[in-house]
Amino acid sequence: AKSRGKENFEFFSTELLDGSIRKQEIAAALQQALLHGEFSVHYQPQVELSSGRIIGFEALLRWNSALGAVSPSEFIPIAEECGAIHSIGEWVLREACLQLKSWREQGRPDIRVSVNVSAKQFRDPEFAQKVERILVETKVPPKFVEIEITESLMLDIGAAAELLQELKAIGVNLAIDDFGTGYSSLNAVKNIQVDTLKIDKSLVDEVLGSDRSMAILTTIIELGRNLGAEVVVEGLETIDQVALMRQYEVIGQGYYFSRPLPADKATRVWDKYLEQ
Ligand code: C2E
Ligand code: CA
Ligand code: CA
Ligand code: CA
Repeated sequence: AKSRGKENFEFFSTELLDGSIRKQEIAAALQQALLHGEFSVHYQPQVELSSGRIIGFEALLRWNSALGAVSPSEFIPIAEECGAIHSIGEWVLREACLQLKSWREQGRPDIRVSVNVSAKQFRDPEFAQKVERILVETKVPPKFVEIEITESLMLDIGAAAELLQELKAIGVNLAIDDFGTGYSSLNAVKNIQVDTLKIDKSLVDEVLGSDRSMAILTTIIELGRNLGAEVVVEGLETIDQVALMRQYEVIGQGYYFSRPLPADKATRVWDKYLEQ
């Protein structure tokens, strides 16, 4: 059972978790992780291919735990299962907004930061208010913040539709992550005004060798254009992939430009792009 303390960290019982000892260890360690300051946020640039400008950064959570470095692909699902995702998710958003605030105070050009939000966080009816509170607290204009959700979240729910409207009303941007990898891609963009479609690396990896994959990718780009949404192509690693994508008006993200980096290093990468 879960109860909420005044400090907004959560207690939970690991009995709820099925499976391995590793999973139980991670769940137990997650409980302490915020308190012990074990999390950090890395930032990966998003580059407008036509101009070569960095227009945003995606915030990606890192956990340097007592168990060693654990990847988000492993611990996020466990955090979702044990309920820790709520306090962790809120921490990531605040951290990303504080970073934005700091960049703005340094007089740097406008930039957008995208934050991943789990479907579980959308079950919290107060999620939109929490987002708003963090924006007010950090004095970040909502238009510089993007919330990334996966299309499976849109399947889930009638409640999410309301929450998405609330978020739109606050003025933050909405991105659909891993677009085209699920079963409900078109449904996901039918009723909600999304600002960004993010095309998953798995599709990008196929396009150089497959006409059919290329047809799907260009169709998603076209869909984005028709919906008035930006398209971000993820996981660009090679110059060939970048050269191919440059023919389209899209934003690129991937190791080709930069790995996700701690804020100070990401700022230096940004400086290099500004000098060009
Ligand atoms: P995602 O949101 O799809 O994030 C993109 C992932 O691809 C990141 O992995 C990023 O480091 C990686 N990536 C970026 N460019 C390249 C590339 O060129 N090649 C390859 N091979 N990989 C690339 P990461 O940071 O390990 O995160 C994995 C997943 O964990 C994320 O996938 C996201 O679903 C989740 N995640 C990360 N941070 C958060 C968070 O703060 N909250 C939530 N709810 N989920 C998060
Ligand atoms: Ca993402
Ligand atoms: Ca993605
Ligand atoms: Ca993904």
